[in-house]
Amino acid sequence: MPKRAKRKRGLLVVISGPSGVGKSTVVRRLFKVYPKLLMSISSTTRTPRPGEIHGQHYDFITQEEFDLRVKQHKFLEWAKVHGSYYGTPRQYIEDELKQGEVVVLEVDVQGASSVKRLVESGDLKASVVFIFLIPPSVDILAFRLKKRKTEDEEVVNYRLRAAIAELQVMEKYDYIVVNDKVESAADKIKAIINVEKERTLVN
Ligand code: ADP
Ligand code: 5GP
Repeated sequence: MPKRAKRKRGLLVVISGPSGVGKSTVVRRLFKVYPKLLMSISSTTRTPRPGEIHGQHYDFITQEEFDLRVKQHKFLEWAKVHGSYYGTPRQYIEDELKQGEVVVLEVDVQGASSVKRLVESGDLKASVVFIFLIPPSVDILAFRLKKRKTEDEEVVNYRLRAAIAELQVMEKYDYIVVNDKVESAADKIKAIINVEKERTLVN
């Protein structure tokens, strides 16, 4: 037994899942029931959807600005997803994790495996938990994607095909959460975070 309680280090919560499964909706709910969490705001070259706010949903930037930030190593990880570029801000994440905070990242499967490599190589000092959100069925996923009405039919079909490919890698995640009801999915993620926080003691 240690003489004193050990200091806890930060926890990175990585959430992935196919487009339209409800990641943004569930994460929004999660912040309501768990306001102490911090959210990382990614940069993207994608055009904003109606209602999306710069600096709140994403940091919407040009391709030139994105390329510059890649060169300057400003991203912890970055990837091309569905034809646009997305990147996670390095400095913010590292600073908050050092303070012992719990930071939530919503990234695609490429981003999640980059984060895994960084943690395993010791380049990122944090505990990390990988959560994959799945729909109750592929039909429901198709319905949600169409219901959002933010993409045209061609993009919806493309995203659906990508979703089926993404579902193949879900076993690599620590937890698979079914987004049946928004409230219960958020409650399940909250419970996972609380358990994982207890495992983040450092020697
Ligand atoms: P993602 O961020 O994974 O692309 P969104 O959060 O934008 O997905 O959700 C896609 C659509 O599905 C939205 O219209 C949202 O309101 C709806 N949605 C999300 N979760 C649920 C749920 N549990 N039940 C019904 N509709 C949902
Ligand atoms: P959307 O355009 O629907 O907001 O997001 C498309 C995909 O990009 C989703 O799978 C989302 O998780 C992912 N994504 C958002 N931000 C990042 C990021 O910073 N890095 C990576 N790798 N993926 C991201």
